[in-house]
Amino acid sequence: MTGIDDLPIRDELRGKSPYGAPQLDVPVRLNTNENPYPLPEPLVARIAERVAEAARHLNRYPDRDAVELRTELAKYLTRTAGHEVTAGQVWAANGSNEIIQQLLQTFGGPGRTAIGFEPSYSMHALISRGTGTGWIPGPRRADFTIDVDAAVTAIAEQRPHVVFICSPNNPTGTAVGAGTVLRLYEAAQAARPCLVVIDEAYGEFSHRPSLLPLIEGRPNLVVSRTMSKAFGAAGLRLGYLAAHPAVVDAVQLVRLPYHLSSVTQATALAALEHTDTLLTYVEQLKAERDRIVAELRAMDFEVTESDANFVQFGRFADSHEAWQAILDQGVLVRDNGVPGWLRVTAGTPAENDAFLDAVRTIRKENN
Ligand code: PMP
Repeated sequence: MTGIDDLPIRDELRGKSPYGAPQLDVPVRLNTNENPYPLPEPLVARIAERVAEAARHLNRYPDRDAVELRTELAKYLTRTAGHEVTAGQVWAANGSNEIIQQLLQTFGGPGRTAIGFEPSYSMHALISRGTGTGWIPGPRRADFTIDVDAAVTAIAEQRPHVVFICSPNNPTGTAVGAGTVLRLYEAAQAARPCLVVIDEAYGEFSHRPSLLPLIEGRPNLVVSRTMSKAFGAAGLRLGYLAAHPAVVDAVQLVRLPYHLSSVTQATALAALEHTDTLLTYVEQLKAERDRIVAELRAMDFEVTESDANFVQFGRFADSHEAWQAILDQGVLVRDNGVPGWLRVTAGTPAENDAFLDAVRTIRKENN
């Protein structure tokens, strides 16, 4: 039997596992930070309309520069993130994972390194590996906040080419303030010219304002966003960044020609027409997130402060065993491999009730 390791793959990929959140068929799936609300019917109809129009031109390549989409994304950011951005400052790709990949292909690569403060979004390390960028696991405090002094020291010592700041951070839910970003940015630039990427995939769910205004006057600062969470469109695969126009020019050097299909662009544009409705779902999810935090605390769980659409809770002597016990009750949460902790995504009120009932049961059984 030929296996992966019998193939002439790159040495650094040997023995590694792909990203793999389990996709199990259970009644309540709260494990991948998806938005639980299907798109509203009027939006579904509008997508059908716009996609039909795009289909009439599928014999042609899509708009390679996605100008209309970037213009609408820029308007959305200007309206919601507290800072005016233009289409020239926005770039879009197939999910923010592809945005991160393009950034690493452009600013990382062989002989270069990237740092992130762990535990954090595992794809930062995985995409680094995939692009030949060395990965440096940076520190975090026991309460999962970033220890700025320790982070500054790590940056000064390691002199990375790319710094990831995930805020709100996956899987912990913790967000950082502008002061932290500025200190890390200054430390990074002092070490060498360095790209600082703020991954704001969960930005819309935060109690804090977006960090987007910080890109002003800082050409090496990028904010990455996605339509997978707040727009409830994980299946669409649409991520985007906002930065100095030079960064947008730079990623053109690595992007595949026509990477964003006409169907993707048409669907994303339809979704952006329905922003206001979709943001009302975000408000409901934020309220549900706060309810989950409060109810878990009332059950004496330790809960990490959350600015995202998910909640990290513990502690468990054996988090995998607890994960299984919750799954046995039909609720799938996430075991991210953070010892003692699990992560649950805020779902519909009924899904969250099912989750809270399941953990209440294991609480009782263990007392
Ligand atoms: N960044 C973070 C922090 C995430 O949690 C995720 C999705 N889990 C992504 C980026 C990627 O999302 P997408 O590719 O769907 O935009």
